[in-house]
Amino acid sequence: MKIRKRRIYFRVFSGNRLTIPLLLNIWETNGLDRHFDIHLADAAPGRLSIRPGEDIREGDVFIYSFMTPHLPWVTEEIGYLRSRAALAPILAAGGPHVSAEPDLSVDCGFNVIFRGPGEDNFLRFGRDLLSGNLTARAAMIYDDQTLDNKSDSERKVESWEKYFPISAYLKTVPPLEIARGCFWRCRYCQTGGENPCYRSLDSISVYLEELRRRRLPRVGFISPSAFEFGAEKPGHPNVGRIRAVLERCRQAGFNFIEYGIFPSEVRPDTVRDDVLATLANFVANRRLTFGAQSASDVRLAAIGRGHRVLDIITAVEVANSAGFAANLDFIIALPGETAADRRELLELMKSLKKKYRVYFQLHHFSPLAGSPFARRLPSYLSDAERQIFSDLKKDGLASNWWLAGEKSVKEYFNWLKKKIPVIFKEYH
Ligand code: SF4
Repeated sequence: MKIRKRRIYFRVFSGNRLTIPLLLNIWETNGLDRHFDIHLADAAPGRLSIRPGEDIREGDVFIYSFMTPHLPWVTEEIGYLRSRAALAPILAAGGPHVSAEPDLSVDCGFNVIFRGPGEDNFLRFGRDLLSGNLTARAAMIYDDQTLDNKSDSERKVESWEKYFPISAYLKTVPPLEIARGCFWRCRYCQTGGENPCYRSLDSISVYLEELRRRRLPRVGFISPSAFEFGAEKPGHPNVGRIRAVLERCRQAGFNFIEYGIFPSEVRPDTVRDDVLATLANFVANRRLTFGAQSASDVRLAAIGRGHRVLDIITAVEVANSAGFAANLDFIIALPGETAADRRELLELMKSLKKKYRVYFQLHHFSPLAGSPFARRLPSYLSDAERQIFSDLKKDGLASNWWLAGEKSVKEYFNWLKKKIPVIFKEYH
């Protein structure tokens, strides 16, 4: 009799497309995936549906990776999955929100939680599923602290050498994460606060070979502070290390190399002539993405950025001189942000636009679990300010991505107020 394999559903949506290939790679590298019936549940947020005749079976597994503002629709889907199953499926969750607030994630209906970096935890999870050690009835938290006596950074580096965001189940290959962690501790960010780890050149070469094998022409990287890749201390780019990465790309035959652009960001205070000259020799992108974040020195200090407005202006000027246009990321509605801060932003954008090749990418503040601002409320825009900022898109000056962020954070707080008022009250 043919034994039916356990079905595993990876819940894919726009917010985790960079993560899912890595999770699959961990199982594929260790030969686990072939023991399971793998499915990609790819749907817009809140739109997961199980087709008639495909009802959930005992032992089915649904894997989620998400961030704090996604909680309303994620819990809605969890409710839907539980309502469709006579026998509850195993519901597993990881990602920055879950790492920081595992108890809340259990309350939301997940019974398997991953804390911290995913590699080793996810491998253990796969092995436990295979050996039948997990059921939908018991809660299980996979935490790196329980693995061995190694430090976080030792473990992180070891896992990096082994895994890549490359999966046989997906045609596309996301950019490669080459740095994890960040020297800085910006208060809205979940990433900072620990010395970064860097992927080795040999590991990068393995990734490049796989891209070539798949005939993919383009290569890009993820580094939270792009010009600090390989740096030994904050604010001191290691141009030799950056050049070595780009040379590997060139040697591997790539002409379309991207660096210093989304999904990476460049801190304005790390922009230096020698780094720009190196990039100009290798990369295809003629734009760089700078994390500017605020146009007010007071606000930059309050959010712990560690640079000033003047650094932003200088970075734009130097980048333009080296042949790069600048995409400037700003966050609006930061906690404590005032109407005067926003006026400063409008003025800065207009004055930069007059002199330089710039474009502005506006994001709305959202409190992220695990960040120092995890329990802070946005400083919402007034109706008049909303109109002014919305018009910037029409005028071709700035993106209006912030509108989606504003909608999602408002939905999050409406949901929280109704579902978990005790946590809502912690926000200020
Ligand atoms: S926002 Fe950027 S620079 Fe600041 S802590 Fe996060 S990753 Fe580092």
